[in-house]
Amino acid sequence: MAKAGCQKCSLIPVLQWKPANSNWDQRWVRGDEFHSNNSCQTIDAESPICIILASANETRACLACRNSLTRAFCIPEIWWSDYCRNSNGYLGSDITRQNGVVTGFSTWAYFEIKHLDAKMQYQWHKMNIFIRWLAPTKQTIILAFDTLSPVMERIPESLRNPDSNCLGDPFWVYARLASDVVDLQDSAVWAIRNQVRAIETQRMPIGKPQPDYRHIHDVARHAIHVTESLNVATECLEGILAQHDDFLSQKFPFQMIHADASEAVHRQLLFCKHMLSNLRHRSISNRERLQNEIQLAFNTVAQYDAGISVQIGRAAQLDGAAMRKVAFVTMMFLPATFISAVFSMSFFDFDADSGAWNISGKFWIYWVFAIPLTVATSLLWHFWHKLFPLTPMG
Ligand SMILES: [Zn+2]
Repeated sequence: MAKAGCQKCSLIPVLQWKPANSNWDQRWVRGDEFHSNNSCQTIDAESPICIILASANETRACLACRNSLTRAFCIPEIWWSDYCRNSNGYLGSDITRQNGVVTGFSTWAYFEIKHLDAKMQYQWHKMNIFIRWLAPTKQTIILAFDTLSPVMERIPESLRNPDSNCLGDPFWVYARLASDVVDLQDSAVWAIRNQVRAIETQRMPIGKPQPDYRHIHDVARHAIHVTESLNVATECLEGILAQHDDFLSQKFPFQMIHADASEAVHRQLLFCKHMLSNLRHRSISNRERLQNEIQLAFNTVAQYDAGISVQIGRAAQLDGAAMRKVAFVTMMFLPATFISAVFSMSFFDFDADSGAWNISGKFWIYWVFAIPLTVATSLLWHFWHKLFPLTPMG
């Protein structure tokens, strides 16, 4: 009795390499059609490579499609876990055996590349691949999950016209796709470098410096992400090289490996690893150059503010000198003013005709008022400063 099949998931594009006409043959398959009657129904025997462009999230949500893919391509359950979905990159491998005989070799890897354009818009390019290599037929099945442009176009393009000797090595796909990762990471690093260079060559404006801290920190944030993805990609490629070494050293009975082809694969992987490592150094350099620019921007603003403070200090110094002159002139006239004020009081009587100068016997009244009032004023001044002490401005 025929099953109705999964109707809710999108059809999955399947590309099969046809050596006869050197081209990809594309067809569309339902997610739950990959595995039925205990066998994989997807791959033609005469097709050495098959690319399946699936959606990981859609498949993860549909039990029928997920089970179909899991069984058809021996995907481990761990691959569907949340921490794999949220990871910034990984590498894994597995060997399948039947009655003690190795039947297949699976590897899975995930690379992330953050690309920033000239308008500061960014995009994450993701290469999330699961590779199933079948020992008896030397067929390679590549499940590429959630691939978007330009990765989606690059994968079939890079895997065209495979060398038949290389097909005996399960790692031949990585040798080709690693150069795509290097190419995309190279664009990502140079995009950051261009932003850094633009910041470095900005001329300081006349007057108050006004650095765009938000922009510089945004570029720094992208530079940190690019460095992180490069670190992970480099470690993934180191892992692929280690596993390739391990695979070659195990001498599996199914192996009909051409030593020259495997050596070429290994050398290409090694070269890509070195390129990623070099790009990582450049990316770290970009990040440090940005830190240098941020430090320079802070120092420039601080230097300008210090210059303004010096000018304010000089102006205050000139004001203080002027005030001292005014105080000196006031002090000079103060005793004479006091004497004239005392002698102009009505306690003194000067007769111009006789020349007699009389002082009133009540002159003590002046001192009775003047002395306590002076003491009271001094005390008020003292306690005022106690109650309301002067505090620094700010
Ligand atoms: Zn489904």
